[in-house]
Amino acid sequence: MTAFPPEAPRDCPLCPRLVAYREENRRQNPDWWNGAAPSFGDPNARLLIAGLAPGRTGANRTGRPFTGDGAGVLLYQTLIRTGFARGEYRADPDDGLELVDCMITNAVRCAPPQNKPLPVEEATCRPFLIARLAALPRLKVIVTLGDVARRNVLKALGLKGTAAPPGHGVEAAVGGYVLLNSYHCSRLNTNTGRLTPAMFEAVFRRAREIIDT
Ligand code: SF4
Repeated sequence: MTAFPPEAPRDCPLCPRLVAYREENRRQNPDWWNGAAPSFGDPNARLLIAGLAPGRTGANRTGRPFTGDGAGVLLYQTLIRTGFARGEYRADPDDGLELVDCMITNAVRCAPPQNKPLPVEEATCRPFLIARLAALPRLKVIVTLGDVARRNVLKALGLKGTAAPPGHGVEAAVGGYVLLNSYHCSRLNTNTGRLTPAMFEAVFRRAREIIDT
């Protein structure tokens, strides 16, 4: 089997439905990124944050994970408050924001229609996630944003998707790392109060505690 690199090529051809969606987005918005979104952050990070997939008007538009859509505001503000980022988040990949001891990736690197990748697309993209995990030599903590990200990380570690329980703030030792699961910081979750800024920040404060132990 050919070894995958930790980052997918921008024009990765492996998922026909996602390639078709990418091409449709290119026709409609030729100035957008419209490609596999690369991970962002520190290559020596001890914290990896795993999301599900780029949002159409977020990373698919700007080329940086969680940049440009609603979910990124809470994520980056929280990372700045907990010392995992420095600078100012201005929803623009050229805003100069830096991640500190932290990297953000997505389980599926291309934007899916309705933000819902198919299981076959999650499986096809998983070798990139496996390579991403393997390429972080100091990795200690993985924060998964939502249950699909949690299941994909577990599978990337060679475990069953049920190897760690779901739920916000749930912590499990898996594959030599600590997995911390969080509700996704989507506008849907924050607008309904399912996830508050304090609940979200608590996850990253716990990640900090584990890293500093
Ligand atoms: S989702 Fe992953 S495997 Fe599928 S086309 Fe995009 S980069 Fe390639």
